[in-house]
Amino acid sequence: MADDRFHVYDTTLRDGAQQEGLNLTVVDKLAIARQLDGLGVGFIEGGWPGANPKDTEFFRRAQTELDLKHAQLAAFGATRRAGVKAADDPLVAALRESGAPVVTLVAKSHDRHVELALRTTLQENLAMIRDTVSHLRAEGQRVFLDAEHFFDGYKSNPAYALEVLRTAAEAGASVIALCDTNGGMLPDELAEVVHAAVGTSARIGIHCHDDTGCAVANTLAAVKAGATHVQGCANGYGERSGNANLFTVVANLQLKRGFDLVPREALADMTRIAHAITEVTNVTPNSHAPYVGVSAFAHKAGLHASAIKVDPNLYQHIDPAMVGNDMRMLVSDMAGRASVELKGRELGYELSPEISRTLVERVKEMESKGYTFEAADASFELLLRDTVAGERRRHFEVESWRVIIERTRGGELVSEATVKLHAKGERIVATGEGNGPVNALDKAVRLGLERLYPELSAVELIDFKVRILEGTHGTDAVTRVLITSSDDTAEWATVGVDENIIEASWQALEQAVTYGLLRAGHSAD
Ligand SMILES: [Zn+2]
Repeated sequence: MADDRFHVYDTTLRDGAQQEGLNLTVVDKLAIARQLDGLGVGFIEGGWPGANPKDTEFFRRAQTELDLKHAQLAAFGATRRAGVKAADDPLVAALRESGAPVVTLVAKSHDRHVELALRTTLQENLAMIRDTVSHLRAEGQRVFLDAEHFFDGYKSNPAYALEVLRTAAEAGASVIALCDTNGGMLPDELAEVVHAAVGTSARIGIHCHDDTGCAVANTLAAVKAGATHVQGCANGYGERSGNANLFTVVANLQLKRGFDLVPREALADMTRIAHAITEVTNVTPNSHAPYVGVSAFAHKAGLHASAIKVDPNLYQHIDPAMVGNDMRMLVSDMAGRASVELKGRELGYELSPEISRTLVERVKEMESKGYTFEAADASFELLLRDTVAGERRRHFEVESWRVIIERTRGGELVSEATVKLHAKGERIVATGEGNGPVNALDKAVRLGLERLYPELSAVELIDFKVRILEGTHGTDAVTRVLITSSDDTAEWATVGVDENIIEASWQALEQAVTYGLLRAGHSAD
């Protein structure tokens, strides 16, 4: 587990998930948690169990499905309701029962919010904090407190805002994170308030939103003023203008301020991690993102070009390799032979140097066209198997497929797909209907193959993500489709890319079925 001198606390799965248009499934959340753990953050806030059924499920599944190496999980929730005992509050019970070693309680620290939003007295708010913190401490959990609207509260009533911190610390909260909930602060004034709060006996943390474009700067200013716990979100996700970008915060503190926050090798993997998370969230990565953006170290040729050749350090603030970036790199490029060999071994293959080399070339070539293997393990494994076999091996060959979309008289949209396949020496023609073209194709393929491969009835398409990739080097935009499938025991993801969305979907679907058949024990030769 991470050491306790300085906390890196991620809240992507709770606060970051508030971003408009972001919709994370439990599987997505588990996948993101694994990536964040790979970066070496100390704490991962998983969500609000009890208030949100998806988050309750996340904490339940995390206990068996997440094998965290660095991070501890934190469950987020509120202090007890006014007028009841913490021990009797069902939402507090959900935090207790989440299995998370840490609970982060949000509490009001702004007098007007207590009176107007919580509609209780200032004294009762303090009692709620005291009671909830000490109850959870007594039950064996570590308790952090998010002091909501702290900076605005301090402006309104500094004595009360500080009283909130003292109360929580005395009750046993080991961290008190000061939240710039409205995100309106600037670094100099924020630092003054943090300075006033340091010394309330608990560790002071900082939680910033980016409404002034200063979330990262505010976080650094707070650290300078004595905060030793920083909160943020992967890629700066969050509602409105987002939260402090945790990657930028970590890189700044570690590379510019000399903090030892995450393992050096993990920091050198940060660009890949940042992109892998965008594949899960399905949010187009910001190419100009500091440190991890594709353009972060890209230079226009011309004036600088020859000087860059002589000494690249003249034109960049750090060596991009320290954060796993490059003067020019492909998005989520698995690159390097070493990582391909590693991935191969993970899947149970010892790859010869020639095979590794060929595979790297193919991965690079396909990623340059828009494929991503970060988020599509099953596609990578099929590519690996084909490379090892020296030919493309499938359980079935596709003669043709066709999809018709009809808008009926009643105004309903119906899709009908016909596939013509060859399998086990037979020619199969099958038709499927669905609520969309991909659904119809999926049904047609299964209908066609299920008689020969009954195990397919257990395979299910559970998620479908579409991303339009802007054209590069004068080419047109292409569509990338990621499909997640499952059977009774596992989930796997496949990827397809084409200018045509149905063709891209078909590629992903065809691989999904192939992989399902391999899992069922059918070899493809
Ligand atoms: Zn927040």
